[in-house]
Amino acid sequence: SVVVAGSFNVDHVWRCDALPAPGATIAGRYSTGPGGKGFNQAVAAQRAGAQTSFVCALGADAGGDLARQLAAADGIALVAEASDEPTGTAGIYVDGRGRNSIVIGAGANASLSTDFVTANAALISGAKVLLAQLESPVETIEATLAQAREAGVLTMLNAAPANAPSTISLLKLADVLTPNETEFAALLGRHVGERIEADDVATLDGASLHALCRKLSGNTVVVTLGAVGVFVSHDEDKLRSDSQPYYRVAAESVQVVDTTGAGDAFNGALAASLAQAPEASFIKHVRFANQYAARSTESEGAALSMPKMTPADA
Ligand code: ADP
Repeated sequence: SVVVAGSFNVDHVWRCDALPAPGATIAGRYSTGPGGKGFNQAVAAQRAGAQTSFVCALGADAGGDLARQLAAADGIALVAEASDEPTGTAGIYVDGRGRNSIVIGAGANASLSTDFVTANAALISGAKVLLAQLESPVETIEATLAQAREAGVLTMLNAAPANAPSTISLLKLADVLTPNETEFAALLGRHVGERIEADDVATLDGASLHALCRKLSGNTVVVTLGAVGVFVSHDEDKLRSDSQPYYRVAAESVQVVDTTGAGDAFNGALAASLAQAPEASFIKHVRFANQYAARSTESEGAALSMPKMTPADA
């Protein structure tokens, strides 16, 4: 089974011709639905075939009710800390060219506590994989990863969003660290003094990328490269005999409709695959997650459009 610890948001989306300038009032087409990296990844893990629990913090409001209702509809075990804050929200403007401006109201997500995670230690230690992101308090994430590690549970950290606080000690608690290229560049700049442009990451040769990954972690690093695919770097001292130290997996070619949530799809699917066949070689899990994420881009939306596809279907 998989435990995802992280955020739930109610997304409020306005599609408009152009993003509003300061002081402007414009019209847009409104829609609302669930979001938050934690929830998106939990839905992906569950639909990719793993029995999934989602540890989060919710307000006593309609957003909290929505989280409970949607988790139940997907068969996800929701483990929610009750918060006095409103349930997390995101205000999203999307223009005619697909560009967006986003404001996040962390709300209840910012109150997910170490005490609550500790109170659910048995749930975490009974899982195969623990997956976290950076939309929750950094000390809670750190305690969660440490607790899972201690229990022998495989830990995954999706270091997103790029501007979230993090520490090098937090990164090192992840058996698998999964930044996208923007997050990878941000982590390198912040933690090891390597200045590199996000757009240049995919153009580096394998040996250089591998060397950069090694500076961030003594464990596995998986850098997602959008339409380019994925780069994987393993610690050479822990390398299995059936694996190369580093390799790329090319993206699947699909008819892309909306890449929102592709990273969440990838992370949830990778966790689910690792939980279902822990003995399989890592590259098999990455190939599945890469296929799953590609499939997720073929329809609009994030959580609700996660495909139902397990490693056995792939
Ligand atoms: P994020 O959503 O965090 O920005 P990426 O853009 O790196 O994450 O996408 C995550 C993964 O989703 C990629 O590594 C790839 O597997 C898949 N993916 C993203 N964009 C495409 C695309 N245009 N075609 C096929 N697969 C894609």
